[in-house]
Amino acid sequence: MEDIRHISTQELLLFLEENGEKKFRAGQIEEWLWKKGAGSFDEMTNLPVSLRQKLSENFSFLNTVIGRRVQSSDGTAKFIFRLHDGREIEGVLIPTETRVTACISTQVGCAMGCKFCATGTMGFIRNLHYSEIFDQYILMNREAQALYGLSISNIVYMGMGEPLLNYDNVMRSVEILTSPKVQGLSPSRITLSTVGIAKVIKQLADDDFKPEVALSLHCADELKRRERMPVTEHQTFEMLQEALSYLYEKTGKRITIEYLLLKNWNDSVADAKKLHRFCRNFPVKINLIEYNATGTEYQKSPEANVRAFIDFLESKNMVVNVRRSRGQDIDAACGQLVKKAELT
Ligand code: SAH
Ligand code: SF4
Repeated sequence: MEDIRHISTQELLLFLEENGEKKFRAGQIEEWLWKKGAGSFDEMTNLPVSLRQKLSENFSFLNTVIGRRVQSSDGTAKFIFRLHDGREIEGVLIPTETRVTACISTQVGCAMGCKFCATGTMGFIRNLHYSEIFDQYILMNREAQALYGLSISNIVYMGMGEPLLNYDNVMRSVEILTSPKVQGLSPSRITLSTVGIAKVIKQLADDDFKPEVALSLHCADELKRRERMPVTEHQTFEMLQEALSYLYEKTGKRITIEYLLLKNWNDSVADAKKLHRFCRNFPVKINLIEYNATGTEYQKSPEANVRAFIDFLESKNMVVNVRRSRGQDIDAACGQLVKKAELT
């Protein structure tokens, strides 16, 4: 049976009409689905029992459940979600005093094969449906309230998968999360992180995408980047830069450049110079990321290199943040999201 969340409002209205039900029930049902995050028809207590019965005879819920939760000593919590087909994905909650950021997945595995990323080693398994992206939010929001007494305030599409290769579902999930009628989160508190698919970045611009966009550049030398991020072969710097300029022209928003610092690969002042050059045509904010060990031969950059790298960028008046890793003891940090639970 089809998941009730996978049909359109028109289809729902048609179903109601065919069953002699009033139109306004559609609004009530959708409120249960997307505002309250109901996972069964029994929860829909303002619907007559007869309607709930009819709905359950015709539709299902392909629910996601939390299979396992692990909490880090620094407060970060990782969740392994089990999807309706038994596949597993991960999400993470990262709390501060006043805010909770949820990191969510968009695919099971990832086809991009970045060498430093644990998800990359899994290969691509399947896309997540928008209801599965939404489920991660709803389930983690309940957990955030219980764990920290706070609701999720920020969302980063930085879990498993490449969001721009699951475009329609990602866009629909953003719409649900930001629509004032349902979750009503501010788009400025949502960040989509991408390895950089030029054509789809332009599509974001054309579709008037409101959240923040972050590019996982990591290396501003095209050939060197290709060694550890094979995607560059098809997404040349020229294409990427053109797409980012286009995005900036359309949205007027600064683009975040994520830069994972790896020892002796991309962490010299010469590399910083290349990064500065790469960004010459659009305003950016640089997020330097500390490498989380994923069992590869790579090592994180020594503190002195990080300092010199930052100093150079700041001397060019660039905005630089350093993202220290959190949740490392539970493998919840970026790039570590792989199905470890399978092994335990
Ligand atoms: N596919 C998207 C989003 C998911 S990855 C992307 O690549 O942007 C989220 C972020 O984690 C990316 O910036 C990615 O490069 C980074 N990452 C991957 N492996 C990492 C590791 N071992 N340590 C730190 N960050 C890592
Ligand atoms: Fe995929 Fe992003 Fe990991 Fe690269 S870093 S393999 S694009 S999830």
